Amino acid sequence: MSDSKIEAAKTGRSKCRSCRESIEKDSLRMGVISFQFDSDGSWSWFHLKCGAALHPESFEAAVGEYPGDIPDIDALRADAKKAARKFLTPRIEAAPSGRAACQECSEKIAPKGTLRVVFDRDPDPDTGMARPGYLHLKCALTHLALEGDGKALLLANSDLDDQQRATADAEL
Ligand SMILES: [Zn+2]
Ligand SMILES: [Zn+2]
Repeated sequence: MSDSKIEAAKTGRSKCRSCRESIEKDSLRMGVISFQFDSDGSWSWFHLKCGAALHPESFEAAVGEYPGDIPDIDALRADAKKAARKFLTPRIEAAPSGRAACQECSEKIAPKGTLRVVFDRDPDPDTGMARPGYLHLKCALTHLALEGDGKALLLANSDLDDQQRATADAEL
């Protein structure tokens, strides 16, 4: 059995787990099953738009299995793709603060809003936890030593506007 599905809401009583608004009867909703509290599994329901943004992979799987037409599917898929990018590494993002230090040159990546590269560092030796590392754009390709066209990979992984993309393209 699949762990996600899309179906028409049978009643108007279900609430979206993301935005907490109710899901209209007969409108399409996305369900994600969880076995956390119940061995038979319990379904969490989402508006399609909310589900695509929160669980992009489950959304794609559910779309693949739904036999009917889904209104606005192209826009929903674009939302899911955009959401999935938040988890890709390495990628470029605007620094939410100016506090992180570059793993290559140890200088701060500042000010806030400066484009930086996020990547997966080796797990913390004490806790075994995965942890993100940050790099200046100019330090990124040296530090990461990616195979193939690292610059193209970084740009493809990143959700940037045109101006940010141009900046990244120039600085990498
Ligand atoms: Zn919602
Ligand atoms: Zn640096």
